[in-house]
Amino acid sequence: GHTTRLDAIAAITKAPPLESGMDFIATPASEYWGKNVFSLSEMAQRLPKATFKSLKRTITSGDLLDISTADAVAEAMKTWALSKGATHYAHVFYPLTGLTAEKHDSFFDPDGDGGTIATFAGSALIQGEPDGSSFPNGGIRQTFEARGYTIWDVTSPAYLIENPNGTTLCIPTAFVSWTGEALDRKTPILRSMQALNTQTQRVLKFFGTDGPFVSSTAGAEQEYFLIDKNFYYARPDLLACGRTLFGAPPPKGQEFDDHYFGAIPERVQAFMFEVERECFKLGIPAKTRHNEVAPGQYEFAPVYEFANVATDHQQMMMTILKKVADKYGMACLMHEKPFAGVNGSGKHVNFSMGSSAAGNVFDPGDTPAENAQFLVFCAAMISAVYKHATLLRAVVATASNDHRLGANEAPPAILSVFLGTELNEIMETILSGDSSVSSKSSTLNIGVDVLPPIPRHSGDRNRTSPMAFTGNRFEFRAVGSSQSISGPMVALNIIMAEALDEAATELERADTSSREALGKAVEAYVSKVWKESSSVVFNGDGYSSGWHEEAARRGLPNLATTADSLGVFMEPATISLFEKYGVLSARELESRYEVYAEQYVATANVESNLVLEMGRTQIFPAAIRYQSELALSLANLKAVGIETDHDSINLITSLIKSLQVSLDDLEKLKNQESSITDVAAHCQFVKTEVLPKMLEVRTTVDALEHRVADDLWPLPTFQEMLFIR
Ligand code: ADP
Ligand code: MG
Repeated sequence: GHTTRLDAIAAITKAPPLESGMDFIATPASEYWGKNVFSLSEMAQRLPKATFKSLKRTITSGDLLDISTADAVAEAMKTWALSKGATHYAHVFYPLTGLTAEKHDSFFDPDGDGGTIATFAGSALIQGEPDGSSFPNGGIRQTFEARGYTIWDVTSPAYLIENPNGTTLCIPTAFVSWTGEALDRKTPILRSMQALNTQTQRVLKFFGTDGPFVSSTAGAEQEYFLIDKNFYYARPDLLACGRTLFGAPPPKGQEFDDHYFGAIPERVQAFMFEVERECFKLGIPAKTRHNEVAPGQYEFAPVYEFANVATDHQQMMMTILKKVADKYGMACLMHEKPFAGVNGSGKHVNFSMGSSAAGNVFDPGDTPAENAQFLVFCAAMISAVYKHATLLRAVVATASNDHRLGANEAPPAILSVFLGTELNEIMETILSGDSSVSSKSSTLNIGVDVLPPIPRHSGDRNRTSPMAFTGNRFEFRAVGSSQSISGPMVALNIIMAEALDEAATELERADTSSREALGKAVEAYVSKVWKESSSVVFNGDGYSSGWHEEAARRGLPNLATTADSLGVFMEPATISLFEKYGVLSARELESRYEVYAEQYVATANVESNLVLEMGRTQIFPAAIRYQSELALSLANLKAVGIETDHDSINLITSLIKSLQVSLDDLEKLKNQESSITDVAAHCQFVKTEVLPKMLEVRTTVDALEHRVADDLWPLPTFQEMLFIR
């Protein structure tokens, strides 16, 4: 037999060791830190004092850059970039696809005398005009007004991307239409950070910690798989869909837990060193790297940053992971479920908020006053998740994440909050108003200051909750590994803004004239929230089936799939929330609904096309070749007078028949599908008809994989992809 699969294995075993071409020992990664970033300190050195001051003011206030400042910044930026060998600049923006897009321009213009001159005015920094007509926009822009503007987001620094053939200055930008509508994933983040700050200040005033801008912070733990590139290219499904559409579970799976925190393989380690170095050059604070649960699965986490910068850095990090993996002969798979039956990948988004004056608001303090502030923010979070559980569900809804949520390694689609027993007890105590209660872990001291001391960094960990309190932050674990964290951050910012708006309103109405009175007011707010919203708090095992029943009894929403979830973007409650805080208009939300729904449908379309294609041109031929081998063998045996049963050939024949039938059925469904015009109906059709039929094909193919001769099987197996490195 000769298959692409066997060729792939041969290529890997013969591959020479890969060299990075860099000396990692002589120059430690720390020396690269921020080397390619036009940072604040770089600007401080290069800009006139007044210009720098004005720029800093713009950064903290979130205002747009005025043109005279922009001109000066552009000049300094150009000088810096040219000195580092840049020839081009690119406005980098984040369209609704969740990917990163770039428009490149050369610095050099003809000077009119046959020569060339490097130009880069402030206007080029503030606005580019990419022809964005090919980016999905959900109908906001007609093709005749296809142009959008990209505007430098001054809160996110410009940076250089090096390529062996040249260097490009990259400018992170927001992407908006002529009419000012957000066409991207950055604009809503910036708007939601403003809204969050405004509402937070009202609350902080009561604790004397208001003033400095309050930002949300994010630290996203990225999970991913690495497989050899030879396998990747031998699997059309991985290449086109990012996941395997067929494949039987490997004989050795993850049952020994021998991969988790185990030694990192040599090639992978080399890759990780280089990823870290590339991150450091761009000022991305790479921090943690380790093996994950599944074989071939790894995790990478940075130190948290302000949500907006963290979101940009997260996108850059995904690009770096893919690029460096490629250099080391591997493919980096970011899909949530590349291999059915094997643990999937998530992106746990750690979320908090704070400022220099307020500290980290989710960090319980040492003093009763700090604890009071902490309790208000915690209660606000509980209230926010309770009210907008479906929004949090919708912002993690993608075709790919559907394969992971609710499987055995990821939180279910039911949004709940994990507080841990200690914090839960404190909430209960406040509700009961009984100040004499003492818990096992700490004696609650509700005296003059009313509010109890709260143990710091509660030891509890719960890995099954979609939203877990982890001692000084919340961890949103339902986010998918391939997703931009923008949507989740926008949702967290806006629901917190609303909850804090309500908290501030309560406190403003109450008597807060003394510390005791303020304590009472805080207590009243917390117990009100607890009464209304504590059904969203769940401290048990989120993976258990018992929780599904319990959640249903509690009346918590359970939107199992993307098709069920996306409608949330169009609900009146969502629209009024987003409009109230000026984050997205009804039209902007509608455009997002359309784009996301179309992406869901398009994903299923590519996948089902490929199921048909691979089923007919790879699996079917392998199966009938094996069938004829069996037939030949039976005929030969018969010729020499040996009678045997026909079990093997009967089984293969019936599997081939089911394969043909299910493929034909799938094709019929796809023909039916082509006449559906309503996008919501289309999503439902995909969910209830197309996806189940694809699974039916898969079941047969996977059964064949266990039966067909190994030298005829065309696709690299899970065993090979996950264990050969
Ligand atoms: P674990 O796997 O135990 O959850 P990790 O160290 O892998 O922990 O990841 C924790 C993540 O949480 C890191 O990215 C870290 O920077 C981030 N984090 C810590 N504190 C905060 C905070 N205040 N706000 C946002 N993220 C935070
Ligand atoms: Mg974590």
